[in-house]
Amino acid sequence: MKNKRAVKRVILYKLYEHLQETYGIDWSRDTFTNGTLTLHQLDALLAFKHDGMIDELWSALKRLDAGEFGLCIRCKKEVSDVLLEKDPTRRICSECEAEFSHASVPLHAVSMPA
Ligand SMILES: [Zn+2]
Repeated sequence: MKNKRAVKRVILYKLYEHLQETYGIDWSRDTFTNGTLTLHQLDALLAFKHDGMIDELWSALKRLDAGEFGLCIRCKKEVSDVLLEKDPTRRICSECEAEFSHASVPLHAVSMPA
């Protein structure tokens, strides 16, 4: 992901949608996605909530600020922009994901010994 501001907007937008749908929080979308709301303010607002989705999006924002956004946690290569646009909380590249999914045996494939 090259454009940090654009990525930030995507993440903030997802966070906004989530807050609105889940908690009915009625903030102005522009305030939210244009970054008028500072991360510090946002942090204070969200501090009392325990919500996995918020945590995911929040840590994506922190990774973005730290310059670690979009790197695969396993092989450290860049995750493709297409995948990140779909899911900015993604932390694994498609190659590593494929390896993981091959490693786990689906339940229906397990048969009882005859
Ligand atoms: Zn990887």
